[in-house]
Amino acid sequence: MNGIEGARILVVEDERHLASGIRENLELDGYAVEVAHDGLEGLAMARDGAYDLIVLDVMLPGMDGFTLCETLREEDRRVPVLFLTARSTPEDRIRGLEAGGDDYLTKPFHLRELLLRVGAILRRRTWYREPPPGGATLEFGGNRIDFGSYQARGWDGREHTLTQKEAMILKALAERAGEVVAREEILEKVWGYDVFPSTRTIDNFIVRLRRRFEPDPESPRHIHTVRGVGYRLTLAPEETR
Ligand code: CA
Repeated sequence: MNGIEGARILVVEDERHLASGIRENLELDGYAVEVAHDGLEGLAMARDGAYDLIVLDVMLPGMDGFTLCETLREEDRRVPVLFLTARSTPEDRIRGLEAGGDDYLTKPFHLRELLLRVGAILRRRTWYREPPPGGATLEFGGNRIDFGSYQARGWDGREHTLTQKEAMILKALAERAGEVVAREEILEKVWGYDVFPSTRTIDNFIVRLRRRFEPDPESPRHIHTVRGVGYRLTLAPEETR
């Protein structure tokens, strides 16, 4: 049993055989599972139930999965959503992310892969809520970052509101301050693997963080790139140069 302790999952899938196969496998992995067979029933259950994750088919009677997810997001419900779809065009993938989905799996898929992704999403969600060791604030080089509110004050006194991704990248580095954190590890923690195919995505975020938190972003003293491997956060660099 590998399920995240006590996690409750709603499966919205109109193909009954597939729905029961998914349910059985999730239950074997230790999750508590409920199933809806059409979009409107799924929406009603999602509104009422305190689920930790929704596995959501796209093509559904009543209401399609994209609309269902958008409706939940408009109501400010932040439950993670894993889309299942028969189509696999890049447009669909983007549509799913725009609708507020967290990950995307194309049919037919191996149930083992579904279980891996479910586990990854739930671990990430748990990790998002935990403050890093050392507390909910991070200080280095005159910068102060609050992981609870995503507010930051830079070394130059400027105030910044970080996006969740920016804050979580800093958190991933802060948890292992002084050590190299691999790009792949950051991708897994912050995005979940395979949601963004390129590690260049992280490079762009790092550049933005340096502009805010490094007096000289071209010669960083805190947020270092370790070529070919990843990044390292140095909280208190030695005054050697
Ligand atoms: Ca369907």
